[in-house]
Amino acid sequence: MTDDDRRARSAAHYTKLAPTPGLTAVVELAAQITGCPVAMVNVVDGAHQYTIAAHGISTGIVVPLRLSGCARVITGNAPIVIADAADRGEDGELATLLRDVGFRTYAGVPVLGREGLPVATLCVLDPDPQADRIIDVATLERLAILVRDALDVARSQGGHLSTEDLPNAEPLDNAVTTIEIGVREVASAVDNDEIVPWYMPIIDLETGGLLAVEALARWLHPTLGILPPGAFVPLIENTDLIIDFDLAMLARALDDLRRWRTTDTDAADVKVAVNMSAHHFYRPDCADRIDKVATAAGIASDSIILEITETVAVPTTALINSRVINELQERGYIVVLDDIGGPWLPAEHLLSFGVNGLKADRAVGSSLHTPTGRALARALTALTDELGQFLVIEGIETAEQAHQARIIGARYGQGFYWSAAQPAHAFPTFRLAGRLNPPGAGQPGRDGNAP
Ligand code: C2E
Ligand code: CA
Ligand code: CA
Repeated sequence: MTDDDRRARSAAHYTKLAPTPGLTAVVELAAQITGCPVAMVNVVDGAHQYTIAAHGISTGIVVPLRLSGCARVITGNAPIVIADAADRGEDGELATLLRDVGFRTYAGVPVLGREGLPVATLCVLDPDPQADRIIDVATLERLAILVRDALDVARSQGGHLSTEDLPNAEPLDNAVTTIEIGVREVASAVDNDEIVPWYMPIIDLETGGLLAVEALARWLHPTLGILPPGAFVPLIENTDLIIDFDLAMLARALDDLRRWRTTDTDAADVKVAVNMSAHHFYRPDCADRIDKVATAAGIASDSIILEITETVAVPTTALINSRVINELQERGYIVVLDDIGGPWLPAEHLLSFGVNGLKADRAVGSSLHTPTGRALARALTALTDELGQFLVIEGIETAEQAHQARIIGARYGQGFYWSAAQPAHAFPTFRLAGRLNPPGAGQPGRDGNAP
């Protein structure tokens, strides 16, 4: 067996570890000490790099070796520092890789596994050059000893995710994966059933019940791993393919809903929310196309929430035709505007379109622990109340944020606090999510508008 084989074999013990509090604390510390916004523990085996703990970026990212900067730290078993990837003097390949994914600074140190071979790295990244800050590699190496111990404990405790759980990890909108994907690849992936919806629960904050599940596209790529929509939706968003793509996701989501309903009586009034690019909403045949999919699946329109989703680089208000929205509503569909308070918010949208509900952007949910976040959520609650619309606050990650949402009187919540996006087979856990993780007793919430 070669050294590389031995290393890969040792690394295999760590690739599926869940991030433990110890690992998370070390990456946070690494980010803080170096002043870098991103820090990760990456396990590298013979074929891939796995992000098993992270600060400032998602865990669960899997990239092929070729796109792994950390693989070089492992093969050299020595630290690598790139102070500014734009500087021609730096290691050419690695610097190019960093620039491609939007980073200027990188520092990675090896972490040894139980077999005494390097199996992982502790690394930090910054989109800005570290011109006048010097990353202290010796400190990172000391932290790498803590990572080694934390990995060892996790390995002993069998802190592995089961293969079923693994996709639980939320992949990241990472530029890495867009490098070699083109529109044609996306089109054939849809045809080959490689792109499927995963689901995230939307929870009734008052009852803990499940209002709906949102379908979020995931590409189960044969070599690159699980790709998030950020890696491929932008490529097709301004092509005709987006129409077929969204309708294909709708068809699959409705099939899944029908299946859940046959096996699970409690699923009878759960709805499905799908993301529809704004491009649909100016086409006069929009409602007919959606009807066709719904009829084929045998799902009634009032079980379907259509989320009008931001589209990059197009003035969306110009795209959407409010008559199309009205027609959909007349046929019983529930239409909401997505990402309110995010980059595309436009008072203009609120004024132009009579929708059934609003989804507050992730930025709102994740700032509910701050006075400004709460004020914003309260304002959106009042706005939707007054208009007879319902409000979903996205991006709720902690019990505290869930509690705040509820006392503000928001009716529905969504976020990692309950669950990240998961494959269709995880549906039964969604029904429990709101009950196992209730937003907490205390002041009662109010009964906001329901869809
Ligand atoms: P979105 O519609 O705003 O979906 C919510 C996104 O926020 C999802 O990311 C979800 O995983 C993430 N998220 C929700 N709660 C939390 C939280 O508590 N913390 C964090 N950190 N993240 C949270 P995802 O799946 O990467 O989707 C990104 C976007 O891609 C979606 O944003 C949506 O605009 C678009 N998209 C997804 N599927 C489709 C599709 O089938 N068609 C179209 N046109 N767009 C889609
Ligand atoms: Ca959405
Ligand atoms: Ca959003």
